Amino acid sequence: MTPDFRRTKIIFTLGPATESEEMLEALIQAGVDIARLNMAHATHEWTRTMIRRIRKVSAKVGRDIAILMDIKGPEIRTGDVSAPLELKAGEVFDFTVKPGADRENAEEVRSVDVNYRDLVNDIRVGDTVLVDNGLITLEVLEKHNAHIRCRVLIPGELKSRRHINLPGVKVNLPSLTEKDKGDATVGLEEGLDFIALSFVRSAADIAELRTWLEEKKSKVRVIAKVEDQSGITNLDAIVQASDGLMIARGDLGIECPFEELPIIQRRAVRACLAQSRPVIVATHMLESMISQPMPTRAEITDVANAVYELADCVMLSGETTIGKYPLECVQILDKIAKRIEIEDDTEIREVAVFTGERMKVLHSAVVLANEIPHSKILTFTRHGFMAHGLAALRPVHSPILTFTPHAQLLRQLRLLRAVEPFQMPFATEPDATIENASALLKERGRIVPGDKLIIATDILSQDRLVDSVQLRTVR
Ligand code: PEP
Repeated sequence: MTPDFRRTKIIFTLGPATESEEMLEALIQAGVDIARLNMAHATHEWTRTMIRRIRKVSAKVGRDIAILMDIKGPEIRTGDVSAPLELKAGEVFDFTVKPGADRENAEEVRSVDVNYRDLVNDIRVGDTVLVDNGLITLEVLEKHNAHIRCRVLIPGELKSRRHINLPGVKVNLPSLTEKDKGDATVGLEEGLDFIALSFVRSAADIAELRTWLEEKKSKVRVIAKVEDQSGITNLDAIVQASDGLMIARGDLGIECPFEELPIIQRRAVRACLAQSRPVIVATHMLESMISQPMPTRAEITDVANAVYELADCVMLSGETTIGKYPLECVQILDKIAKRIEIEDDTEIREVAVFTGERMKVLHSAVVLANEIPHSKILTFTRHGFMAHGLAALRPVHSPILTFTPHAQLLRQLRLLRAVEPFQMPFATEPDATIENASALLKERGRIVPGDKLIIATDILSQDRLVDSVQLRTVR
């Protein structure tokens, strides 16, 4: 392995701390792979400006990163409050679903509107309402026609448009909202690479998004964010239906018992590996670095754990939206990942088991690469199939140098563990394409004479293309 090469990919979330051209340039230089736009907080104008800015800075740096739009799906939020409300322990408080509707003792009991009209039907007396990631906790006392009345258990300050979780409640909201469609349309117009759908509860949610994307003739890839119990119950089908999974630990840690979280993470990573789908471990990876220049020991170990588990990506949220040390966060992830990746070569890998013959050929390429120290895998892909297959087999030390003629696919390949993408037009003769790729890699210093290349590609044999695995020494 090249010391400079990191197999685990880094996603950062764009926000006030990272949206300047200077900071974007520094982050791309530092090796971020994907920028995430969180549509909970984004206007369409900001979204367009940011996508264009990322493309411009990527071109300047000479490293095209991918853009992922995180659409919010069936997210429950409070409405606006004119000034923050200080909720006190024991206080009775209402959540209203019809603004302006009559409430008993309305002059004494304060309230806020919520965007979930069926709240009063779907919730039960005794259920818990968690506001702002559980910073404020309430218990449901009564249900009424247009509001629920609650008691504050854990007090706190309620600001505008706060996220609400209802653990254990089967939320009856559409998986793809009109807001999502509006947001995604802007993203597609600007040339987005990934859409992550929040609160995916079943494979049907992904199918609905795909149908909508097909109507738009979009090649964007779909990431399923699992954030609640339904998503975990239907995990395998969701993984199968999507192009990748995000383990959204922020909401998962609220919606599920927190002690289940490490078990869910491990299970989700393995489900993705088994089905050859990339997987992102998200949220609170370096949370303390929002305000401190160094991570806690526990955070270092958490990042290392995701790398040991063979996740494709780790993701930063608040650390890079509002944090004081966004660049340092990326540098620290980079350092931890590179160090741990050297360690994990003795792990027993529970990787994809392929039944298809073509995938078995890829498997033989990875077995060969694992046998030959310092080897590098070279592959060529028009649709991403070869790269996905090789990445899912998690070669122990070899980078997967992947060539594609397509700019968008190059960016999408940045999601995959160990894949280092390059863009180049393919020649009509497969062998000429290999020669051209080798020349480009030599020019960029990625291969040197004596290097062993394991080449997984199709070759022309008696006028037909056949899959092949070749071992070549760079001359
Ligand atoms: C999460 O909950 O971990 C997550 C990534 O989602 P969001 O930041 O949209 O709440």
